[in-house]
Amino acid sequence: MAFALSPLPYPDTALAPAISAETLSFHHGKHHQAYVDKTNAAIEGTPHADASLEAIIAASRGSNQGLFNNAAQSWNHAFYWHSMAPATTAPSADLAAKIDAAFGSVDALKQQLKDRGLGHFASGWVWLAEKDGKLSIEETHDADTLADSGFNPLLVLDVWEHAYYLDHQNKRPAYLDAVVETKLNWAFASENLARGQVWTYA
Ligand code: MN
Repeated sequence: MAFALSPLPYPDTALAPAISAETLSFHHGKHHQAYVDKTNAAIEGTPHADASLEAIIAASRGSNQGLFNNAAQSWNHAFYWHSMAPATTAPSADLAAKIDAAFGSVDALKQQLKDRGLGHFASGWVWLAEKDGKLSIEETHDADTLADSGFNPLLVLDVWEHAYYLDHQNKRPAYLDAVVETKLNWAFASENLARGQVWTYA
């Protein structure tokens, strides 16, 4: 069964000025759509055709790089859209306590997310993740994902240039500052933490 493009959970104007409708039209409507289309083309008529996206990611890791890249990018982008909200939300009490334990404060975590995003060389993803009850910031390069990693991903930031170039040109810090300070969906992170299992693509 073919995967559908995961819809944006808000209107395409909802993230401006951090992320414009124009960026979302390309990033969601073109880039994300292409990853989903290529995943569907690669699995049609194969044993993967009826598998979940998470199962395809795990099965193709290390053995079918083309399929892995497109399946992982399909998953990562859907997770990224949910990691943001029109107005930033608040962490649950449990998430807030774990953030304080790992980073000292929400503000300190925000600064570390921005620093790691700025320091990440070339294309990839910066994640807030949980494992064994502890939070950490993780980075993956290119299409790589935490979907099948043993971590429970809570939030992600896309640091590929296509995420910010139309709005901020080469100024990755401006993009990171705008998203981290005004658009992070801590309610989504709290749901992921409370579930205790990796979010699934739908
Ligand atoms: Mn992207």
